[in-house]
Order: sequence, then structure tokens, then C-alpha cells
Amino acid sequence: MKKPSRTVAVILAAGRGERTGLEKPKQLLKLAGRPIIEHTIDAFQRNASIDEILVVTNRDCTDAIDDIVATQRFTKVKSVILGGSERYESSLAAIVATEHLCRDHSVKLVFHDAVRPLVSDRIISDVVAALDHYSAVDVVVPTTDTIISADPITNTIEFIPDRSKLRNGQTPQGFAHETIKRAYEIALKDKDFKTTDDCGVVLKYLPSEKIYLVRGEQENIKLTYAGDLQIMDKLLQIKTRKSSDYPLNTQTLAQLKNKVMVVFGGTSGIGADMIRIATAHQGIAVPVSRSRGVDISDLQAVQQCLQEIKQRHGKIDYVVNTAAVLSRQPLANMDYAEVTSAIGINYTGAVNVALASFECLSESKGQLLNFTSSSYTYGRALYSLYSSAKAAVVNLTQALAEEWHPEGIRVNCINPERTDTPMRKRAFGVEPQNTLLKSEEVATHSLAVLLSSTTGQIVDVRKK
Ligand code: C5P
Repeated sequence: MKKPSRTVAVILAAGRGERTGLEKPKQLLKLAGRPIIEHTIDAFQRNASIDEILVVTNRDCTDAIDDIVATQRFTKVKSVILGGSERYESSLAAIVATEHLCRDHSVKLVFHDAVRPLVSDRIISDVVAALDHYSAVDVVVPTTDTIISADPITNTIEFIPDRSKLRNGQTPQGFAHETIKRAYEIALKDKDFKTTDDCGVVLKYLPSEKIYLVRGEQENIKLTYAGDLQIMDKLLQIKTRKSSDYPLNTQTLAQLKNKVMVVFGGTSGIGADMIRIATAHQGIAVPVSRSRGVDISDLQAVQQCLQEIKQRHGKIDYVVNTAAVLSRQPLANMDYAEVTSAIGINYTGAVNVALASFECLSESKGQLLNFTSSSYTYGRALYSLYSSAKAAVVNLTQALAEEWHPEGIRVNCINPERTDTPMRKRAFGVEPQNTLLKSEEVATHSLAVLLSSTTGQIVDVRKK
């Protein structure tokens, strides 16, 4: 009978990281307020195809890592073991530590550098899936720089390999347990054995084994030098998900039945379409807007309105904020009333909606959904107050997702490309229809995000 499969992620964190030139081991350096390794373990904890996690570390880091595992509720982490002074010794320690699982399971090992915290869910899933067909799998990206083989003595070029065949290797690297174990058994008998990665061991000592290549990502960088931390921080800040990651079908939308959804800015554009679609799926959808007497820059008005809706319907499951104003003009030309109004609606409004929603959403374990714009990553001339407020809304979403996680409230943000809405028409006039997203399309994707279990995500909706 075929043994059941068990997939173990091995997080390699025994390095001392001398190349960073910093005091602390690099896996414990802080990225966006959390130790690097916490981001990395989190990626594997969240991935559905990983059954358990094994962390390999060194004596100096064990206490810190034990602490992280305990406080972050990383339920998949079954043990934290000690590695060796060479990377391959750390891999070997994991192979030995997982040997007992092989009695009753067909074991897949997925080795990952602790210092690659930006690994995507897609990469992890693709590696595990490829292990159904191959016994060894690597993750690579095409090399963009020309690679030069240098003569270190004369410091001149020896040769230049054909770039079209070159790839940069990343991790994770996945193996059938028996394959990587056998490769190391042969390797350790070789007195000249030397390696920097596990696929290299299979390639050299089990040459008949085909090593499959999974597509990596430029963002899946390895923290090597101190400066990499700034790049990672920026990449994390602008990390988005595609709306195609969220299932969109009639079954999903049927879950809207009897859900109470309040939409600020819900009488026009994307908000109005969300109301219409939710109502069509038997949701209880309540539009709120300035035209209906609630200005989101007024905290009291927002609080009162949510209290009334809760009293009427008994609960609020979702609060959506699509309200925004966009006026295209240089800041210096704006009068101060326009300035305060733009900030009041685009940013203070988002804060007010969040403040007023906290209590009802913690009761319903619901979701707050914000809206940003692609201009959030880089300020745009002529709409500085809009683009800077949208950057703040992304930041607010990320912060609140963390703060409200213990309460069971999810907080996400939709980032639609240019969309055909009344607000856009007012600011930009008539534009070719085929270059714009339909607001209904954005609304449907937004509802799919509401119905997902995700949190802390900035979700891009792009034109197909
Ligand atoms: O040294 P390098 O940056 O290539 O390390 C890649 C990963 O391997 C890091 O996460 C590091 O902690 C891990 N490693 C290890 N044991 C070693 C050396 C490195 O687990 N002896």
C-alpha cells in the first residue's frame, strides 16, 4: 500500500551571517518590526501544502527562536534543532531528524533559507506540487546580469557563459527524503566533498536524477548584506496580491446571504456596485454617503450611523470604505478649505471609519476593507493630497491588520487600476473606455476579498 505523504519545511537558520557586518545573526534582524525568521516561518505556517516545520539553528539563536515559536502560535513547528558550522551540516541534521517519519510516510523535505522572508505562497506550493513528479526540485530566476568567470590571479576575464542558459538559484529546494539522504550518503564518502546547496549534492552524486526547475521571483531575495534590509523593507511595504488569488464564483458570492455590509461612499462608483451585487446575493447592504447625511471626516456622524445600523440589523459583518475625493491641481493653488477637506475625507475619514468600526467588527469577527490607488507607491504631481493619503491608507491597513489580529478582525485594502467611476470622470474627463476597468469588476473582486480569510493584504485589481 502507498504510504501517506508528509511535507516538512526545513528552515535553515544556523548561519552566523558574518557578511552582513552586523552584530546580530541576520535571521534575527528586524524587518517591518518582526525578526526576519518570523516572516519566513509565517510563510510556511500559512501555506496549505506544508504539514510541519522544522527549524535548524545555532546555540546563540535557540532561545530567541523558541520564544518566537511560542508567542506567534506557529502550530506547525514541531522542533527546533541545532545545525552545523557549514550549511550542508544543517541540512544533514534535518535529514536525520526527520528519518523517523519515513516509517509511516513518504516524506517530502522542503529546505528554505531563513533569510529569504519574502518567499511567496505560490513558490512554496509549486515546489511541493512538483515533488509529486520529481524527487528533486530547485527554484530559479533568469540571470539578468552577464555572468563572468574571472581569473582571480590576473583579475581578467576567463570566459563568459551563454546567459540564455543561466539562472540564479533561490530556495526553497525540495526533495524526496530518500533521494537527498542517499545523495549525502555518497557525498560524505568523497574526501573532496564541498557544497553550498542541496541540489548541488544531488546533481553531483546522483547524476541520473532529474532536478526540476520551479519559477522563482525577483522579490525572493536573500539577506546577505546590511543594505539588503532596506530593499526588503520596501518590497514588503509595497507587497501586493493579485485579485486572481481570490476565488470568484457564484458559490463564493452566495456566502453574502444575510451578511450585513456597510459601504461608506456606497451611493456611487465601486461602492454602489458592491451594494447592488451584495443585495442581489441576499446580503444586507447599507450604503452611507455625504449625500445621505454622513460625512466620514466627522467621527461622531460615523459612530452614530454605525450604531443605528447595528441596532437595526443586530450585527455588522463588513465595513467598506470607498469614499474619496480627487481634485487635480497643484497643492500651492488649493485654498486651505480644499486642503483640509481632501485630507479629512481621504485620510482622517479612513481613520474615523476604522475607529468607529472596531467594536462591532470585534463582535462579529468581521472585516474592514479600505481602498487605495496605484499612486500610493509614488507621489503624483497634481494630486499630492490624494496619492499621499492613499499611501497612508495602505500603511493604516497593514498596521491595523496586525493590531486587530488578536481580536479576529481582518483588515485589507483594494488597489484598483484606473477605473471608470464618476470620481475619475470628474478629475480626468473622457478617457478611452478600453483602458479603464469597469467599476462592477472591481466591486466583484472586492467582495471576493471580503469573503476570503486573508488579512493585511493589499490586493491589486488589474485589467485583464
Ligand atoms: O550563508 P548563507 O547566506 O548562504 O546562508 C543561507 C541560509 O543557510 C541562512 O538562512 C543560514 O542561516 C543557513 N545556514 C545554516 N547553517 C549554516 C550556514 C548557513 O543553517 N552552517
